[in-house]
Amino acid sequence: EFAMSKSIAEQRQYLPIYSVRDELLQVIRENQVVVVVGETGSGKTTQLTQYLHEDGYTINGLVGCTQPRRVAAMSVAKRVSEEMETELGDKVGYAIRFEDVTGPNTVIKYMTDGVLLRETLKDADLDKYRVIVMDEAHERSLNTDVLFGILKKVAAHRRDFKLIVTSATLNAQKFSNFFGSAPVFHIPGRTFPVNILHSKTPCEDYVEAAVKQAMTIHITSPPGDILIFMTGQEEIEAACYALAERIDRLTSSTDKAVPKLLILPIYSQLPADLQAKIFQKAEDGARKCIVATNIAETSLTVDGIYYVIDTGYGKTKVYNPKMGMDALQVFPVSRAAADQRAGRAGRTGPGTCYRLYTESAYLDEMLAAPVPEIQRTNLGNVVLLLKSLKIENLLDFDFMDPPPQENILNSMYQLWVLGALNDVGALTDIGWKMVEFPLDPPLAKMLLMGEQLQCLDEVLTIVSMLSVPSVFFRPRDRAEESDAVREKFFVPESDHLTLLNVYQQWKSNQYRGDWCNDHFLHVKGLRKAREVRSQLLDILKIPVTSCGYDWDIVRKAVCSAYFHNAARLKGVGEYVNCRKGMPCHLHPSSALYGLGYTPEYVVYHELILTTKEYMQCVSAVEPQWLADLGPMFFSVK
Ligand code: ADP
Ligand code: MG
Repeated sequence: EFAMSKSIAEQRQYLPIYSVRDELLQVIRENQVVVVVGETGSGKTTQLTQYLHEDGYTINGLVGCTQPRRVAAMSVAKRVSEEMETELGDKVGYAIRFEDVTGPNTVIKYMTDGVLLRETLKDADLDKYRVIVMDEAHERSLNTDVLFGILKKVAAHRRDFKLIVTSATLNAQKFSNFFGSAPVFHIPGRTFPVNILHSKTPCEDYVEAAVKQAMTIHITSPPGDILIFMTGQEEIEAACYALAERIDRLTSSTDKAVPKLLILPIYSQLPADLQAKIFQKAEDGARKCIVATNIAETSLTVDGIYYVIDTGYGKTKVYNPKMGMDALQVFPVSRAAADQRAGRAGRTGPGTCYRLYTESAYLDEMLAAPVPEIQRTNLGNVVLLLKSLKIENLLDFDFMDPPPQENILNSMYQLWVLGALNDVGALTDIGWKMVEFPLDPPLAKMLLMGEQLQCLDEVLTIVSMLSVPSVFFRPRDRAEESDAVREKFFVPESDHLTLLNVYQQWKSNQYRGDWCNDHFLHVKGLRKAREVRSQLLDILKIPVTSCGYDWDIVRKAVCSAYFHNAARLKGVGEYVNCRKGMPCHLHPSSALYGLGYTPEYVVYHELILTTKEYMQCVSAVEPQWLADLGPMFFSVK
């Protein structure tokens, strides 16, 4: 009701940050670096940038605000542009990888921390920014952690530059210390008590348990929206499907009217227009049930939530030494994250949080706080970037929490294998070229190999297709039909070539949308791939060569970039990684699966851990290609 009855100006004035606006601006005027702490929803992300604009900081420069998550950057920019009554991309804009929605009038720019980090490659002092707000610093994302060190230097070089670090939690002292005892400004909280209920026993199937709990709340509890925390897209979709089904079943089996439930998923790969729906008010009498990843923990705040259902799990990217690479894995969240999740129920009034785990799990099994990403993931991109910024010895860089030396060495080894670093750890010509691309090092290498092997046109398409969410659409109620259509695109020896085939067929059908619909393809995904393709082409600045239909050479380019992910056949559908020896399985959705085609050697794009280690995006390769690339890594029989 609040959002409907109050004007946007009134809503702005109601936010906790509004009551301290002038003091906050005063502290910012008097200090170069300020740490701002406030509860989620107090108005840090949407208001701070506007206050800075109102206080004149945009007269000679931009106010930039970094976000660890793309969804947050887009969604907040949209909200702020509405509050300022301007078109998105005009006075207020955003930039995420491969998508820049800013213009000549832009004064407030939201962006991912990765985008700002890449901007430092072109302009080390970030001269166009008057102020940078490093938002969500408590998340300690890899890029934010690197930015800490870089922006500290910028602040030392430029007296006119202001840096504001915001955090939702009270670990601000660490940030303050890093910036030479910068003042910490607290936004007074306005929160309601949340009644926390733990499971009595550990729960076997948290998706089912969450669905059940949501149904119980919906049928028996007073009005108020529900927020469910899950780990990722598949689970979220399964939960939404199950909820819808149960509501349907209930409606058809009772005479009484079943109250309406508006089921809304939110995760990073969801199209932006669907993401925006979580903020919309449900129609009369309907209850909203948002099913979210940890994106709704602190980076997006939805008002009106009275009930939180917390599965206690989240997906985290971690370096897996056994696999020699990063993998997204499901882990119990930290106590700090669990408390944030519960807090979402107490923003509008007293709420309830249902934890689908026991109190002893909370107390004894969960970590107090999450481990910063820099401590647990591959640093390939960071190493490349810092080397190109002339930071020769990474151990000298001013990290708030330095990464383990082993991590740095592993990442350097991988870059050396790709030919990006030479024997003394300096950037090679290939390495310098790879820095240019906003891509993971192996994908950048693939492009360069495409150039060398004269199949750049084909490789560009594959790299672009790998940089967007899967374009294959598989509706639950037409699964078999869509699988059959998908199979027609299969190039039996390669998922990479299958992607190429899809794109080329789309192209020969004039990039038509109805053609996509007929073929169970996401038109938005394909359009995005086309856009990414043209942006990569701009960066390449060289003429495109095509190999026509001699696609073996394309597989060779794929092989040269991904030979660290080479695997040898072991049994039906089963391979072992050539370097690490761990098993990796063909996924049933792969073109190589079930077609009676079992090559001796394959390379894969990445390994996904679900019930098994599944190879994602696989291509058959010739043993000789592997032998030529790195005899020291392989014992090709
Ligand atoms: P914080 O950054 O301190 O967590 P925000 O600035 O994100 O707080 O949120 C302030 C308010 O703006 C909240 O009440 C939130 O619900 C609202 N808000 C943020 N984004 C949107 C949006 N896209 N649509 C509607 N309301 C929004
Ligand atoms: Mg925020």
